[in-house]
Amino acid sequence: MTPTPEYFRNIDPKKCTDCGKSMEEMHESYLNQCDKCLRLIDHD
Ligand SMILES: [Zn+2]
Repeated sequence: MTPTPEYFRNIDPKKCTDCGKSMEEMHESYLNQCDKCLRLIDHD
């Protein structure tokens, strides 16, 4: 059995660097924090 590249992608779920919450449902894949934490650190 040869694992596909897609498999390795799926085994590395993105998690919030602040609270550790899984962000599989997040669309902003370039972000390292969940929506909740992003709002908390909003410096604007
Ligand atoms: Zn978070």
